[in-house]
Amino acid sequence: MNSERIFLSPPHMSGNEMKYIQEAFDTNWIAPLGINVDKFEEEICEYVGVNHALALSSGTAGIHLALKYYGVGPEDYVFCSDLTFAGSCNPIMYQYANPVFIDSEPNTWNMSPLALEKAFEWAKNVNKMPKAVIIVDLYGQSADYDQLLPICKKYGVPVIEDAAEALGATYKGKKCGTFGDISIFSFNGNKIITTSGGGMVVSNDEDAIKKMRFWATQSRENAKHYEHKEVGYNYRMSNICAGIGRAQLQNINKFIDSRKYLFEQYTAKFTGLPLASMPINKSGSPNYWLSVFTIDKLNEYTPLNIIECLEAKNIESRPLWKPMHMQELFSDYPFFSHNDVEIVGENLFKLGVCLPSGSSMNESQQNTIIKIIKELFDSF
Ligand SMILES: *Cc1c(COP(=O)(O)O)cnc(C)c1O
Repeated sequence: MNSERIFLSPPHMSGNEMKYIQEAFDTNWIAPLGINVDKFEEEICEYVGVNHALALSSGTAGIHLALKYYGVGPEDYVFCSDLTFAGSCNPIMYQYANPVFIDSEPNTWNMSPLALEKAFEWAKNVNKMPKAVIIVDLYGQSADYDQLLPICKKYGVPVIEDAAEALGATYKGKKCGTFGDISIFSFNGNKIITTSGGGMVVSNDEDAIKKMRFWATQSRENAKHYEHKEVGYNYRMSNICAGIGRAQLQNINKFIDSRKYLFEQYTAKFTGLPLASMPINKSGSPNYWLSVFTIDKLNEYTPLNIIECLEAKNIESRPLWKPMHMQELFSDYPFFSHNDVEIVGENLFKLGVCLPSGSSMNESQQNTIIKIIKELFDSF
C-alpha cells in the first residue's frame, strides 16, 4: 500500500500564500475584511474580464445571493443543471422555491439546449416561468452558451452561471464567469484554486453586486448604530482567506497546465482500454479541473471496480456527480431530459469515474495509477 495517500484534488500551495497572510497579521487585519479582500476582488475582475466582484465565504453563498437578487421566493421556479454538485441547487431550497432540473447534452456534459427549450415550453404552458436559470460549467468546461443564452433571452429570464469548477476555462475566447448575468466561483479546498474555503460572485451589473454586498454583511443600514430593515447574512470572506486566494491566483496558469498534462497523459496511456475521456468542446479550453473518464458501456465492469481497486492502494477516486433528479431530496421536482430514449446524466453517472487530478501530483504517482487501472482491465 502507498504510505502517502493520493487525493482526488488536494490544495496546492504555491509559495506566496504565507506572505499575504503575514501582511494581514502585521497590520492586524485578521478579520473581517481588509486589503487582501479588496485586492482579491480586483484581481479576479481583471483575470476573468468582469467589472465587479464580491468575495464570499463560499460559492453556495454566491448562488443564494444571486437568487435573492432576482427575487426568487416561496412558490417560485428556478431551472438548474441536473448533473452537478448539490451546492448549485441547495440555495433554491433556502428561498423555499422549486428547482426544475435540466439534463446534460453529450458534447460537453453541460446543460442540454434541447431539454432547456422543452422546460421553457412546459413552464409557459403551466404558467411556471422561472425567475432564473442556473447553468453549470461542469468539471472545468464551459457550457455551450451560444446555444443556451438565446433561449433564456427569448423568454426574458436571467442566467446565473455556476462557474464554481471553471475558473480559468474559456469559451470562444471569453472566460467562464462572463456568461451569466451574475456568475459565481468557488475556492473550496478541492477546486482549481483555494482559499481553504470561499467563493466569489462577479457581474457587470454594479447594482447587483452592491445589493449582494449589503445582504452579505447582515444588511447593515448606513447609520452609526446597527440599523436593519432587511434580513442579512454573514457571508463575507475573511482577509486571511483572501490572502491565500491572491497567491493562488498568481499561479493559476501553472495549475491549469499541470492538470491539462495529467488529462493528456491519462488519455494517451489509456489507448486500447475501454475508457473514453470527457469530450472536449473545440469552442473553448477547459481548466481540466478533474480528469474524468467513462467506461465503454459494452463492458461488464463498472466505475466502482476502478474506484475500489485504487482505494485498496490508498488512492482516492470518485464516481461523477449523482444527478440531482436521482437524489431523494429532489425527487419530487420536475426534470427534463435531453431526448426521449435516454437520460444523458444518468448514463454518465453509471459509467464515469473521476481520477486523481491534483496539480501537485507527480509523474510517478500518475504512472502508478495508470498501471493499476491497466492491470485491472487485464484481469477481466
Ligand atoms: C463546489 C461547487 C459549488 C459550491 O461551492 P462551495 O464554495 O463549496 O460552496 C457549487 N457548484 C458546483 C458545481 C461546485 O462544484
